[in-house]
Amino acid sequence: MACCDEPQLIPVQDAIARMQVAVQAVTDTETVSLPELLDRVTAEPVHAGFNVPGYDNSAMDGYALRAEDAGQVLKLVGQSLAGHHFDGELNAEQCVRITTGATIPAGANAVVMQENTEVDGDSVHVMKAPSTGENIRRAGEDITQGQEVFPSGYRFGPVDIALLASLGLAEATVKRRLKVAVLSTGDELTPPGQPLKDGHIYDSNRYGLIAILQRLNVEVLDLGLIPDQPDQIRAAFERAGAEADAIISSGGVSVGDADYVKDILGELGEIGFWKVAIKPGKPFAFGHLGKAVFFGLPGNPVSSMVTLHQLALPILRTMAGEAPEPPLQLTAKAASGYKKRPGRQDFQRATLRCVDGENQIDSNGAQGSGVLTSFLGANAYAVLEAERGKVEAGEPVTVIPFDRFIT
Ligand code: AMP
Ligand code: MG
Repeated sequence: MACCDEPQLIPVQDAIARMQVAVQAVTDTETVSLPELLDRVTAEPVHAGFNVPGYDNSAMDGYALRAEDAGQVLKLVGQSLAGHHFDGELNAEQCVRITTGATIPAGANAVVMQENTEVDGDSVHVMKAPSTGENIRRAGEDITQGQEVFPSGYRFGPVDIALLASLGLAEATVKRRLKVAVLSTGDELTPPGQPLKDGHIYDSNRYGLIAILQRLNVEVLDLGLIPDQPDQIRAAFERAGAEADAIISSGGVSVGDADYVKDILGELGEIGFWKVAIKPGKPFAFGHLGKAVFFGLPGNPVSSMVTLHQLALPILRTMAGEAPEPPLQLTAKAASGYKKRPGRQDFQRATLRCVDGENQIDSNGAQGSGVLTSFLGANAYAVLEAERGKVEAGEPVTVIPFDRFIT
């Protein structure tokens, strides 16, 4: 059976597990101010210094009252506006005009919404009586003082920035950013913006890889485009191994005559493993070089993107100090058949849709490892397990929706 054609290929999950135990999280920390905290990783838990909300306040525009008085016509005795509370105490058969977010006056235990009242001068007739506590947001109902709001190893997203601000925090202690060296190899490559020589193609991988790394918010050391010259590859690797936490190379990691990457990794550092049972991306190499962790990605454009995303990214996140969850997986019905031979776990670019309440996954056109347009319009991988053969339309398929690191 085809699964045994290349028994030396390492299953995807084993490759990830082997890499995870071979790397360490950065230990250096720094204090960073609020506007710079997006996509930084916490170095310690963040606790709330006070209750949120800080005081009982109104969830509605209306009248604060004592719920037991709601059958009476109430006397309006003042107002409590957001930022300007009512100083006095509410007595029987009294009410206070109140706006959303304003402090509940002493003595009141409910708020009737404005739409449920009739007001005549300072007489307020409650049409629909609120129950005790209704329309009151209690102090601490969102967050209690001392509560852990963010654990250590947490990556801040946009809403988290608002949450930090709501806690009055102008800074946080985070892990230092990873420094990741990136380089492309290949005599046939020309940098974009220059005329294309005969038989050349543009170096696209380095730009896509760097863009993914920017989403990860690491510091990128761009070592540029290196020809298939062992001395130049050695020099670039030595510099990267001295300066960076991780090295990401593209191309030259297979078995062609000009594929020097793996041999030079073995010569200057250590090869952890080579070749993973993944499609696209089989010749992926992992190891250590100098003080850096080394990821050798294959040159085929789709392979380089998929292997960075699926194999290297979880490891880089661990190195950045994160404790990431495994990616969300769904099951969907194959909208069309998939060609597949047992042997490698296949990450097909696909489109996930909900049709009449049912998840359906449709292949996104040609799936060659050089066909970058297979990502265009796709929103998920159809993940065809290694041991699986051909998939017929209608069969269940595992789906990993794309995250913001890839599209
Ligand atoms: P390699 O892994 O070096 O054998 O390259 C495999 C295929 O990917 C070849 O067709 C290369 O021309 C192509 N390729 C390699 N590096 C890049 C790159 N940086 N950008 C675009 N295509 C590349
Ligand atoms: Mg090459």
